[in-house]
Amino acid sequence: MKIELKHLTKRFPNRSKNQPDVIAVNDFNLEIPSGKLIGLLGPSGCGKSTALNLLCGLLKPTEGQILFGEDDVTKLPAEKRGVGFVFQSYALYPHLTVQQNITFPLENLKGKDKLTREQMQKRAYEAAKLVQIEGLMDRKPSELSGGQQQRVAIARALVKMPRVLLLDEPLSNLDARLRLQTREEIRRIQKETKITTVFVTHDQEEAMSISDLIVVMKDGVIQQIGKPQEVYDRPLNLFVAKFLGTPPINVFSGRICAGKLFIGEDAVLDIDGAEDQEVWVGVRPEGFVLKEQSGPLHCTLSGVEVMGRDISVVASHPAMQGTTVRSIISAENMVELEDETTVRFAVKPSKVHVFSKKTELRIPFEAK
Ligand code: ADP
Ligand code: MG
Repeated sequence: MKIELKHLTKRFPNRSKNQPDVIAVNDFNLEIPSGKLIGLLGPSGCGKSTALNLLCGLLKPTEGQILFGEDDVTKLPAEKRGVGFVFQSYALYPHLTVQQNITFPLENLKGKDKLTREQMQKRAYEAAKLVQIEGLMDRKPSELSGGQQQRVAIARALVKMPRVLLLDEPLSNLDARLRLQTREEIRRIQKETKITTVFVTHDQEEAMSISDLIVVMKDGVIQQIGKPQEVYDRPLNLFVAKFLGTPPINVFSGRICAGKLFIGEDAVLDIDGAEDQEVWVGVRPEGFVLKEQSGPLHCTLSGVEVMGRDISVVASHPAMQGTTVRSIISAENMVELEDETTVRFAVKPSKVHVFSKKTELRIPFEAK
């Protein structure tokens, strides 16, 4: 089932006097395709949880509409929306077994939805099997690892066979290895069940790795919607460029002048199709090519970090915003840098993103 958000807005009154309202979600217009996993991505405080709470009905919007398929659910209470919700903290009942935790949402179903004890146990078993904890049904939450607890929480969200699954930073309480494993698990479950899913995270790598589409937001406003690779390859503004990618994009002060793109005083590319102006030049770490003599970008070498498959050349440049220029060079393209103090790079045009200094919006260009 697809989800549509139309002009969805949530304002909170500011607790400090004479301060403007906080607009946690600002005029969201978004269509979430049926059966897909959407990653809602942005820094802490940008309104991700508010957006999820609006979707599930825990919060009422100030303005706008939410459609599930053809149904307008904007005014429908949470329990009637058919939504499964998984929080960052697993919020399991400590005194109940895994089995009881999972069946809990089924206990209070009324009327035609009411289930017999046997039906509930069957449903709980199926949900548990999906997240591979069917062997742990008699344990208490304290007898489970963090990853297992989060699986119980996911099974509990799935047991009502929701039309929509909402996950609010579900992996943040897990250690690095479990985080990786559990995110693959979530992807598998989503593909198997084909439930339309919204996954909230502040971790760009997490969002990029499991989402069909990512929605990048900042201060309550959607910045860009697209497939992860598209957004990475074509960020629409400086914020999105900086938010995606590890190590982060290198941002330099520069200008476009007479068909050349300058980083500081170095003319790094011949370009067409963009007017002369002051710009921010973003270069992805993998966008540098190490040159012995001919590279147009002159940097001062600070160090070389060997990472096995790749080598990271760390340098500085007077036009660099921030501390160091970090490039990733694959090991086979490495040249000897011993005793060097300067390094010279060329840049790959597809890895260079140019933004207006005034608006911070992307400036399209063609490399000659
Ligand atoms: P995120 O989940 O992206 O970290 P939130 O949705 O929790 O962000 O919060 C977005 C903004 O709305 C923040 O500035 C937060 O302080 C504010 N906010 C969230 N809930 C409330 C509330 N109940 N009352 C007032 N302000 C709130
Ligand atoms: Mg949050």
